[in-house]
Amino acid sequence: MNFRSALLLVPAVLLAQPQLDLLLRGGQIIDGTGAAARAADIGIRGDRIVFLGDGSQAHARRVLDVHGLVVSPGFIDPHAHVTGDLSNPSANANEAYLYQGVTTVVTGNDGQGPLDSGATLDRWTKQGVGTNAALYIGQGTVRREVMGMSDAAPTEEQLARMKSLVARGVREGAIGMSTGLYYAPGSYAKTDEVIELARAAAAQGGIYDSHLRDEDSYTIGLLGAIREAIEIARQARIPVHISHIKALGSEVWGQSTEAIRMIRQARAEGLEITADQYPYEASGSSVTASLIPRWAEAGGNAKLLERIDDPSVRPRLIEEMQANLKRRGGADSLLIISGRDRSLIGKRLAAIAAERNESPIEAALEIVKNGGAGVASFNMSEPDIENFMKQDWVMTGSDGSEGHPRKYGTFPRKLRVYVYEKKIISLPYAIHSSSGLTAQALHLRDRGLLREGFYADVIAFDPATVADRSTYEHPNVLAAGMRFVIVNGKIAIDEGKYTGALAGRALRRQ
Ligand SMILES: [Zn+2]
Repeated sequence: MNFRSALLLVPAVLLAQPQLDLLLRGGQIIDGTGAAARAADIGIRGDRIVFLGDGSQAHARRVLDVHGLVVSPGFIDPHAHVTGDLSNPSANANEAYLYQGVTTVVTGNDGQGPLDSGATLDRWTKQGVGTNAALYIGQGTVRREVMGMSDAAPTEEQLARMKSLVARGVREGAIGMSTGLYYAPGSYAKTDEVIELARAAAAQGGIYDSHLRDEDSYTIGLLGAIREAIEIARQARIPVHISHIKALGSEVWGQSTEAIRMIRQARAEGLEITADQYPYEASGSSVTASLIPRWAEAGGNAKLLERIDDPSVRPRLIEEMQANLKRRGGADSLLIISGRDRSLIGKRLAAIAAERNESPIEAALEIVKNGGAGVASFNMSEPDIENFMKQDWVMTGSDGSEGHPRKYGTFPRKLRVYVYEKKIISLPYAIHSSSGLTAQALHLRDRGLLREGFYADVIAFDPATVADRSTYEHPNVLAAGMRFVIVNGKIAIDEGKYTGALAGRALRRQ
């Protein structure tokens, strides 16, 4: 073969430009579109993927041998609750997520995003972050800023103020507005108020992310809450993303089928409705959020404590809490996972009540009076989890929170349990729902796929060992199986170990 014909076999991109920074050679590529695996090499230069194909002629500063590994886009978590971690110099590496193969997180969900989107994004850029990170402006935060913990409807002036705060947040770079309509004070906003704020977010190009008003049978019910989310999409003309979709509690088990039907119908109508999900049977909540009715929280914590001790209110409070405890499956379904009183961690509410010789509701009220506690709430049925997981508009999201294993385990767990053990979904589908689908739904440009020109957020994992290691007993154990995690072209996990790189970027709405 003469020199000229040999050249023709070398892709033009490799000749026209200087050598590659990184070449991943010999892996099985799963590109994030949902397409099947294929053998290909990946070339990276700077922060971009510049080559996909046969790289045997390519020169690179470093070659990573990824034979036997799956190479895919870095995972994207649409719901991570890491606003505090990312701003904290001792936690900003975001290792809990890097070890899962997550290269981009979104935070500020459930209505809790900070008021100062721009300053928060600037701080991450300045201090450095281990993963890319985007955020939401929080409707709960905005309402608290303008109206405190009041459960009243806003005056025209208050509404205008809230709208301008939401608009400012999105203008400064938030990807949209999040709501936590189940929690106080977000729950005090009626649908019309939420639509007004969603319009303000939509006008700036933002999307809408919601912890639904009810995932159970507390108020309007799971299906009523899905109807409300669809109505917000329709009225505010905004893409709606439903956080951690689930049927929470035995009273609504099986309603996944009807919920899916409603969402499919709305999508057929042209509305952009998507959702995320974590693959666990327990949700993460608090004693207060799961058992105390919202009216008792109106006015804030001091008011709540007054009501607990007010003999004219306490009987009604206890009666409603009993109903809520029943919804949650009883006192054995609530496992304390965090809180001021560390001696309670790892115990079920039933056991705490038995030890103290009091009713579970009285024990719960004592816990609330002493500063509250986080719980893992065992309330989901496996058929509903699998039903939601199979929908092509449902992506992976951790909803990571202290004390729940999902913060360290969500993405590898979906692979281990639902791809490899139960075979509910295929590997290309699981990867698509953890990368390409998410980038598309959240409008994250040039991320989520292995494609020339896209940012080099790339992972290589061992399909034989990829697994979650975190449990309810030991929630903070790093996941296993990620051999290489590359963020914007820089290696963050090298041969299974964190390198110290802070290669993430603060992602602003585009
Ligand atoms: Zn939530």
